[in-house]
Amino acid sequence: MTVELPPLPDDPLAAELDSFVDEHRLAQRYRELDRAPEFPRSEFLAMGRAGWLGLDRAREDGGRGISLPRAGRLVYRLAFRSGTTFAKLSLQPGFSSVLGDHGSRDLVTQYYRPLVRGEILIGTQLTEPEAGSDLRALSTVAEPTSDGYLLTGSKSEIAFAQDASWAIVYARVPTERSRDGLTALLVRQDQPGVRREVVPDLGEHWMRRGRVHYERVAVSSAFRIGEEGAALRYLLPELDRERALLAMIYLGVARASWDEAVRRVGARRVFDRALADHEAVGFALVEDWAELEATRLYAERTLERLAQGEAVDQDAALSKVLATRVALRTIDHALQFSGGAGYSAELAHEQRWRDVRSGPIAHGSTELLLRTAARRIWRRPARDSDRTGPADSSR
Ligand SMILES: Cc1cc2nc3c(=O)[nH]c(=O)nc-3n(C[C@H](O)[C@H](O)[C@H](O)COP(=O)(O)OP(=O)(O)OC[C@H]3O[C@@H](n4cnc5c(N)ncnc54)[C@H](O)[C@@H]3O)c2cc1C
Repeated sequence: MTVELPPLPDDPLAAELDSFVDEHRLAQRYRELDRAPEFPRSEFLAMGRAGWLGLDRAREDGGRGISLPRAGRLVYRLAFRSGTTFAKLSLQPGFSSVLGDHGSRDLVTQYYRPLVRGEILIGTQLTEPEAGSDLRALSTVAEPTSDGYLLTGSKSEIAFAQDASWAIVYARVPTERSRDGLTALLVRQDQPGVRREVVPDLGEHWMRRGRVHYERVAVSSAFRIGEEGAALRYLLPELDRERALLAMIYLGVARASWDEAVRRVGARRVFDRALADHEAVGFALVEDWAELEATRLYAERTLERLAQGEAVDQDAALSKVLATRVALRTIDHALQFSGGAGYSAELAHEQRWRDVRSGPIAHGSTELLLRTAARRIWRRPARDSDRTGPADSSR
């Protein structure tokens, strides 16, 4: 049976991206990093040098300066070609936009631009053991001193707990009165008083997530990002962008499984017919296709509206909710219709499923995002901390 697969969304940079993926063996590296987890430093540096980090970030900060919808189509393609790892890494400068957009000139020059060049890794630390969705419960404290702060508290669920050399840490300054007021500090991770531990995960092993504990760690006021108490306000635009871009990544990964499944069920014969001609299989894949495409168009439209400066927090939230749901189901179908081979690690479906399974939790859980959208529909007032849910430094 001949199988004709629909084309991927096109872009003039697609050929350049494909040859980068091939040259650096990113599809193979995606699989290897699952079995032998580590931060892929050399690939990260190569991505920075070739301009694949911070696609939508401004050129003066080292980014490509391309539009958000186009960046979305490119990370979709990168995820299609090589899984979640490198597509998420390409967004890493966007996950640190609070530093890029609100850090002092010195902080941007010394830390943000090197991040966009792939020379250093900066994490984001918001979630705590007792506070994830409800940011009002965050308890890490930055106590003012004569020349800065003493940072005390624990962060949990943190991507790159082991590997980030610096992290944007969100803390409360006790003298700051607002309950929603958080302050962002850029904190070196290999200094006295910082203790890091890795906790094994279901998927995305390369992130080496874990906990980071701070015991009266001195942070100079030169490393405060923007104003005291303003960090959540800085974070909100980042969240909308990253949710819609992550939606494109999850859809790209699922599209890879869908293509492989379509080929396989077209070729495999059972009971004298191609597996695809058994409607329980063929129809399910057809429905997956329609939902993958519909969700992609929704996420792309959201990115277009974001680029035009529209308020799209509801659509960005729902893009991620729908994308993770459709992607997980599509990958699960691909796994199921590949039979016993689908359950084995010889095929990539099981790894993709485990990696994409982080999607409904990280960067605002599905329940939190539905809550964000519901507040818009019924016009309930929202504080900044209601809208956000945690920002994650990778995911
Ligand atoms: C792969 C991965 C990477 C991550 N990286 C980072 C990182 O780098 N930095 C960082 O700070 N955090 C990171 N996180 C943490 C992530 O953002 C949080 O785990 C997430 O926001 C949920 O917070 P929580 O774990 O405290 O769960 P909780 O807030 O305890 O929630 C538990 C469950 O209850 C649900 N829930 C909560 N409130 C409501 C409600 N009002 N109604 C209905 N249901 C509700 C949630 O949706 C969730 O399913 C990462 C997580 C993952 C999985």
